[in-house]
Amino acid sequence: MGRYNLLFIGILCSANLAYAAECAIDIYGTETKDYTDTAGKKISQIVIPAACSEFAVTLTNTSKRHKTTMGHNFVVAKQGDVKGIVLDGAIAGIKKDYLKPKDKRVLVHTKLLGPGESDTVKIKVASIKGGGYDFFCSFLGHETKMHGKLIVQ
Ligand code: ZN
Repeated sequence: MGRYNLLFIGILCSANLAYAAECAIDIYGTETKDYTDTAGKKISQIVIPAACSEFAVTLTNTSKRHKTTMGHNFVVAKQGDVKGIVLDGAIAGIKKDYLKPKDKRVLVHTKLLGPGESDTVKIKVASIKGGGYDFFCSFLGHETKMHGKLIVQ
């Protein structure tokens, strides 16, 4: 086999790797107001491969309690906007899923989930490449525990 053939195979392999980059993650909102991964480990950051054009986050609420007691969502915004979004969400209240309707500071968000419910958001990776984006739960009082960083690398 010639040198160029090997090179070609090498390119195909790396193309496959890029394609296989995990552009999706499943996370869970728990009874104890944490985000966890499939192994049950607490999440304080999500690493998004720069090779992905879109990154999907699927949140499942694993709490058994009613949505009005232990509802969870997944909201993405700039770090500096989080407190304001949470404050306006508290004013909007449970009937608006603890988010001000059409809040322009919110990049994406799932709906507020009750027990056993799931929802998926798709993040356009180009829109967060500059960094400084966080994820959090806007349910009243949850953001202090349910809050982490999105890291594109
Ligand atoms: Zn929550």
